Amino acid sequence: MRVVLLGAPGAGKGTQAVLLAQAKGLAHISTGQIMREAVAAGSGLGVKVKGFLDRGELVPDELVIGLIRERLGKSDCKAGFLLDGFPRTLEQAKSLQALLKEIGLDLTHVLEVDVPEEVILGRINKRASEQGRSDDSAEVLAKRMEVYWAQTAPLASFYDSLGMLRRVNGLGTVEEVQERIQKAL
Ligand code: AMP
Repeated sequence: MRVVLLGAPGAGKGTQAVLLAQAKGLAHISTGQIMREAVAAGSGLGVKVKGFLDRGELVPDELVIGLIRERLGKSDCKAGFLLDGFPRTLEQAKSLQALLKEIGLDLTHVLEVDVPEEVILGRINKRASEQGRSDDSAEVLAKRMEVYWAQTAPLASFYDSLGMLRRVNGLGTVEEVQERIQKAL
């Protein structure tokens, strides 16, 4: 199984990705997590991407695509993988198709965790106040939402035009959403 999981920030995509990867024995590849770890470790990659993460902007495509190319070559991906937070742009989605073609594979599922925008905004505001985020972080979150609607949301149409997209209702408990996701596979 080679899965892409799409969804807005606050849609619960990350939580669902962890559960799904565990349930199906897939390598869970979160580009955001890889980059946050690189920043924490102060690696060369970390130094390059820190500013983008801090500002809530997307890291340049060629950097993320290079990272995915390397990651998909690792042996744990042979049993299947789950991409969480990648692709984020049309360019990334097209590069992923080309990269998979090169290695003779294709995606088996593209799922979008669908949550209405007003619910997402409510969740994000709640999370921000619970975590006592500063105004600065609220600004970063607003930026991430803006980037999502402008650059990532159109990916659903891209995969839909390839006949690959399945939408899953993201409302309800974590368990309910997970059950719907597994049923959609
Ligand atoms: P996430 O944890 O997926 O929300 O990602 C956190 C941050 O990492 C994003 O706001 C971006 O700055 C960066 N990032 C993660 N994945 C990508 C990607 N596929 N393309 C560009 N930037 C990304």
